[in-house]
Amino acid sequence: MSETVVIAGAGQAAAQAIISLRQGGYAGDILLFGEEPYLPYQRPPLSKKFLAGEMELERLYLRPESYYEEHQVKVRTRTRIESIDPKGRTVRVDGRNIGYDHLVLATGSHVRRVPIPGQQFPEVHYLRTIDDVRGIQGGFVKGRRLVIIGGGYIGLEVAAVAVTAGLEVAVVEIADRVMARAVAPPISRFYREVHEAAGVDFHLETGVMEINRAEDGVRVRCTTGRQLPADLVVVGVGISPTTALAEDAGLKCSTGIIVDEFCRTSDPRIYAAGDCTNHPNSLLGRRLRLESVHNAQEQGKTAALSILGKPEAYAQIPWFWSDQYDLKLQMVGLAEDYTAMILRGDPASRAFAAFYFVGERLIAVHAINSGREFMLSKKLIAQGAHLDPHKVADTSIAFKDIAAEARSA
Ligand SMILES: Cc1cc2nc3c(=O)[nH]c(=O)nc-3n(C[C@H](O)[C@H](O)[C@H](O)COP(=O)(O)OP(=O)(O)OC[C@H]3O[C@@H](n4cnc5c(N)ncnc54)[C@H](O)[C@@H]3O)c2cc1C
Repeated sequence: MSETVVIAGAGQAAAQAIISLRQGGYAGDILLFGEEPYLPYQRPPLSKKFLAGEMELERLYLRPESYYEEHQVKVRTRTRIESIDPKGRTVRVDGRNIGYDHLVLATGSHVRRVPIPGQQFPEVHYLRTIDDVRGIQGGFVKGRRLVIIGGGYIGLEVAAVAVTAGLEVAVVEIADRVMARAVAPPISRFYREVHEAAGVDFHLETGVMEINRAEDGVRVRCTTGRQLPADLVVVGVGISPTTALAEDAGLKCSTGIIVDEFCRTSDPRIYAAGDCTNHPNSLLGRRLRLESVHNAQEQGKTAALSILGKPEAYAQIPWFWSDQYDLKLQMVGLAEDYTAMILRGDPASRAFAAFYFVGERLIAVHAINSGREFMLSKKLIAQGAHLDPHKVADTSIAFKDIAAEARSA
């Protein structure tokens, strides 16, 4: 009898697991269950081109419907896996038990809600799914007032699209700078200035107390006492991994579903991949949870290889990007506990990069409109390369020459 792989969640990691299983010659049944009404799709455009109305829905899909038919993948959208019975190796769907030989949990993450009065008003939106974008787009009308709660990369991407579309935009952020969790202060400053020049109004070191109904929309009451009038509110204050299914099945979880470097959970027949995992990274020497396309793709691949009986340990340097206006920010490595940060290039030129070091070892790079620096740095960081920080700061020396001189640890 043929084997069956069941996949819970139809997102980026699920699509990659399917592609890698079929590419690797998996001939058994594949059943994909996703609670959203869509085929697996890419989320990054949701706060960028798709929100701006510059991208068709079909272009979000990671594979067209015909791909699943041709590769004999049964896709059930609008269908939630309710529970798992690890002993019986079944999942519960629509009141029926469905058997599996291998189960992949690709349940992603869900938005964190702000626990404030008024957050239930129809003017208040979160941004995670296609349907969320459709709800927001209805209010994206020139001259309307948008308040964004959260000055992280999603909030700022929405701000860029909205102000370009002619909305009046205010951003409320509890930290003293934007994208504070991700980037160094000079990059926060640069982005804040770019947004301000475009017309975005920032309220930093400011929390939100409540949202009140007004005759013309709502008022967002801040901890500073300010009342910000709004026709539309978008909240982007972070996400949490979707682990309830795994937890209820007794799988080990701790800020994510615990997996090993082969994406195996604490049950030998169950794998997990993508945003929902807490995974080890041998290159960084620690466990972490990531919210990125690259991680979802690589873990989808890793889970598939494990199922195929050709396990390959996941060992990847994290990378991520954010598009705001004409600026492409590309981030590689984790900019944590660094001993020095060196800027290469002049922010005024809108093409520069921040290099983060521990001693002379390069650990992370944030490159703005600097694709070459980003690409070379990806390799250097993975090699544990040591660079001369003084040379990195000197733009008269080509970066490829600095990279060629790098010493590996
Ligand atoms: C607006 C936005 C912009 C982003 N921009 C970037 C970017 O620029 N660069 C970048 O690298 N990353 C970006 N990301 C993050 C990236 O999209 C995610 O890291 C990636 O989608 C994670 O993939 P995943 O497969 O783990 O989870 P998801 O894509 O979240 O998919 C999980 C799916 O599982 C479903 N599900 C959950 N539980 C069940 C269940 N029990 N039964 C059935 N279905 C279930 C969920 O509804 C969801 O559809 C962005 C994310 C968002 C929301």
